[in-house]
Amino acid sequence: MKVISSLEDAKSFIKDYKSERKISLIPTMGNLHIGHMKLIKSASSSSVKVVSIYVNELQFNDKNDYSNYPRTLVDDLSLCEDNNVDLVFTPKSSEVGNHISGDKNDLPKFTSYMCGSKRPGHFSGVYKIVKFLFEIIQPDMAYFGKKDFQQLLLIKYIASTYFPKLKIIDINTVRDRDNIALSSRLCRISPESFDKVKLIFETLQSMKKRLQKGIDYNIVKERTLLELINRDISVEYLDLRSLYTLNELKNINDQCGIFIACYIDHVRLIDNIEI
Ligand code: AMP
Repeated sequence: MKVISSLEDAKSFIKDYKSERKISLIPTMGNLHIGHMKLIKSASSSSVKVVSIYVNELQFNDKNDYSNYPRTLVDDLSLCEDNNVDLVFTPKSSEVGNHISGDKNDLPKFTSYMCGSKRPGHFSGVYKIVKFLFEIIQPDMAYFGKKDFQQLLLIKYIASTYFPKLKIIDINTVRDRDNIALSSRLCRISPESFDKVKLIFETLQSMKKRLQKGIDYNIVKERTLLELINRDISVEYLDLRSLYTLNELKNINDQCGIFIACYIDHVRLIDNIEI
């Protein structure tokens, strides 16, 4: 397994393989967990597996969140080694900055909803780093999790607009035995608060059931928000939305999902469930 930081070295590594084998890219911000491992394991075993690790400051609207983001490179590298990764790309922020500084964004409308409306600059930052990674690594396949569903739609938009040969493969959310969606931010939650974290998926499930029973959306949403507030969970959004346009819906159909962002112990967590 190679670990490369320099852009030139990464490009020449890719050049050496590109004509013989397909390239799989798994972009991450590190602090790798079983969710990331699922992406890495899903990558075609005949391809060259590239994991990028880069905590992208541009996508953090909250500076504390950026500085508190867990950085565990030594452990991450050994997990990659154990999972047959060929290249770990750890670009330096100075080089990334030079490369993407002039990039213009053409963000699709759906990026202004949900996380987009609550985290100014977030999707512009995601857009820039992902386009940069696709340009440097030139992957044939790239793997992304459905946990970050709005991000996944943006990645699909970037791929279809600028990298038409690139196949985006989406991976179902990996959960622990309490159905908590695994996330690097969970390490900042106190053990006493995990009962609240469990409530996130339970809430999505019970909302789904209530909507499937035909109870009015506004009533379901209001009741659910109250339940969460009573448990001291601060909800940023809780919406029923189309899986394709992310437009908010008032009635369920067979292509919609419920999306949540909330704070527990001042840590921002997101999750979603398809209906
Ligand atoms: P991150 O390091 O949080 O930027 O995540 C890197 C990739 O891993 C993104 O495509 C995420 O959607 C994906 N990912 C993170 N957590 C999970 C999870 N619990 N299940 C599936 N994919 C995940």
